[in-house]
Amino acid sequence: MRSSRGRVWLAFGLVVVFLLAQVAWWLIFQRNTIQQNIEYAETAWLQEAALVQQLWAATAPEKRAALLSELRQAFPHLEVEGDRVYVNPERLKAYRTEQMRHLRMFAYEGPFFLLVMLLGLYIIGRSLKSEQELKRRQQNFLMAASHEFRTPISTLRLLAQTLQMCELSREKQLAYLTHMSHEIDRLEDLSERLLATSRLAQGMGAIKPERHDLNQAVSRCLAQQQNTLVARGAVLHLEPSSTALPVDLDPEAFSLVLSNLLDNAVKYSPAPQKPVWVRLRREGGQAMLEVEDRGVGLSRGELQQIFEPFYRVGDEQTRSTRGLGLGLYLVKSITELMGGRVWAEPLPQGSRFVLSFPLAEAQGLAPERSLA
Ligand code: ADP
Repeated sequence: MRSSRGRVWLAFGLVVVFLLAQVAWWLIFQRNTIQQNIEYAETAWLQEAALVQQLWAATAPEKRAALLSELRQAFPHLEVEGDRVYVNPERLKAYRTEQMRHLRMFAYEGPFFLLVMLLGLYIIGRSLKSEQELKRRQQNFLMAASHEFRTPISTLRLLAQTLQMCELSREKQLAYLTHMSHEIDRLEDLSERLLATSRLAQGMGAIKPERHDLNQAVSRCLAQQQNTLVARGAVLHLEPSSTALPVDLDPEAFSLVLSNLLDNAVKYSPAPQKPVWVRLRREGGQAMLEVEDRGVGLSRGELQQIFEPFYRVGDEQTRSTRGLGLGLYLVKSITELMGGRVWAEPLPQGSRFVLSFPLAEAQGLAPERSLA
């Protein structure tokens, strides 16, 4: 894969070098040809003038008037003054100017042609690159998806076989069953994400906005998820806003958004202590919600890409964190459907995800929006 990419870029490089050389050679060739044309015209006109001079001298004076009109037609660039025949300097200058105009035209056309070709190559290069990136992401997704499904399924099989074959105490059985139910939750969560993504891709489903105080919506979600997050090492710090933040939200969709952000904050933070801050505040006409962690962080170049479907930072073969690269895509799509915005900010240590929703004080209830 890498070597074929290298070959493509080598081919591109060669085409660019060839184009540059071709245009440079073409310009030099045109300049030489035009200079030769000018020199040739000057010599030829001087020779014609010498010949016509001889003819003029050999013609009887009474026949010169007729000869003169013929000469004017045949050699418009020659002048006759008394007995002298010479090349009209104005004509010569006009010819030179005309030729130089052609040269200038080529001098503009050449680089323009080069520019158009390079632009075309750049566009082709970019689309090739994004195609390669899509291929890479698809491969990553397939690898991640098979891993994500295989792990809980193998665990479930193992636990079920143990329960079938071994005589276990009631407590052990309950512990195994709880473990199995966690694995089933994990599978359910995975299929939910895949379903939500395909619904988004196909434009199905609907967001039903209702007026909520963002402080309360966040508290409710946190209360639901707190135990699971704390069990994974999260230390949650909730900093609500001092005033109410009325916004139009679909509570279920919002819960999916916040749970994805919290899940990532914990997932991408090193053990054992994983502090996560959830802050709310009012900024102009917007209600702002921040989820901040002290985890592995993000580079500036990744801030946009992480919201694209199936994008995961790094290489799937060496990655240790689970995931399909769909969480942030869902976060962004759903937030925008609710009229909000989301972006990521890198921190010296960790990262911050910011959601902003228009405050609903001054406006009516938002209309129902489709997941399209
Ligand atoms: P997933 O977590 O399933 O890979 P996401 O769409 O949720 O997919 O995230 C996309 C990528 O963005 C992740 O693979 C990860 O590299 C990066 N990322 C997301 N959240 C964080 C975070 N809080 N800190 C560092 N990197 C993150």
